[in-house]
Amino acid sequence: MTASPPERVHGLRAAASADGRYGKRGVMSGTVGIQREMPIPSLTRTGVVVHVTGVALNTAITIWGAIWLAANWGAIAPPWYLVIAAVLVGLFLADFFSGLLHWGFDTWFSEEMRWMERVVMVVREHHVYPQNIFRYKFQYEAGAVSWVSLGHTLPVIGSTTLLLDSKGTFGLLAVLVSVMVSVLTLFMLQFHKLGHRRSDSRTVQALQRAKLLMSVRHHSQHHRGAHDTRYCLINGWADFVCDSIGFWRAAERAIERLTGAVPRSNDDEWMIRYGRKRPDPKVPDSVLENEKKSCEVGL
Ligand SMILES: [Zn+2]
Ligand SMILES: [Zn+2]
Repeated sequence: MTASPPERVHGLRAAASADGRYGKRGVMSGTVGIQREMPIPSLTRTGVVVHVTGVALNTAITIWGAIWLAANWGAIAPPWYLVIAAVLVGLFLADFFSGLLHWGFDTWFSEEMRWMERVVMVVREHHVYPQNIFRYKFQYEAGAVSWVSLGHTLPVIGSTTLLLDSKGTFGLLAVLVSVMVSVLTLFMLQFHKLGHRRSDSRTVQALQRAKLLMSVRHHSQHHRGAHDTRYCLINGWADFVCDSIGFWRAAERAIERLTGAVPRSNDDEWMIRYGRKRPDPKVPDSVLENEKKSCEVGL
């Protein structure tokens, strides 16, 4: 008899055995069944089109927002202290936005969701082999984040500059924040790389010392333990707030209560499969032995 997992868990069974593409599951204790290879699918032609379209759309709206700002700045003339406040808000929101995306992919998604399969696999790979991110180039990462950025650039920049007659200070600062968040989000995965390898650039080092960019030391804390803190990837400002008030755990409890989904269940499966995490120590050895046997005979 093998132990049946609770229904709501995205089981390793489902992930690994649906069509066998991801290899033999590795739930066992010791080294039996542990995977080493990381079969990330290459970007398809459709994937390239999706990336290019996302970047083109969001970049066009962001550039339009910047042009609109330049054309209207003199006439509106916002007070300097509100401009500084808006820039600080933009830096914080961009960091929070990067953390929200990272937390979402780490915590809830699965490679079984076909339309985001490759992105999820790259995210899972990162916890197993952190340095593999340097294999992915900017042009293959920018599309996914650009599509997400459209969620704020389209309503904020689009409505303020085209639809509404909101040429006041508030509209101008809203466009400024949206442009900042869009540009920083476009480069967030490059900033993430700076959190994994010390840069030789004096400018980058100075920005990291000034806490305007995330440092290697800051981001290394995400890669300790359960990968459940320090999600933000730009400057880490939002980490200090979200981690200290328990924001991510509160959001997880709320979502778990509403949907029944278990936080990090898919990430846990990958970590166990690649030998980075032991199966639940409370599971009796007899259950693990039976799991091992059923795996060996292909059940
Ligand atoms: Zn992570
Ligand atoms: Zn990382």
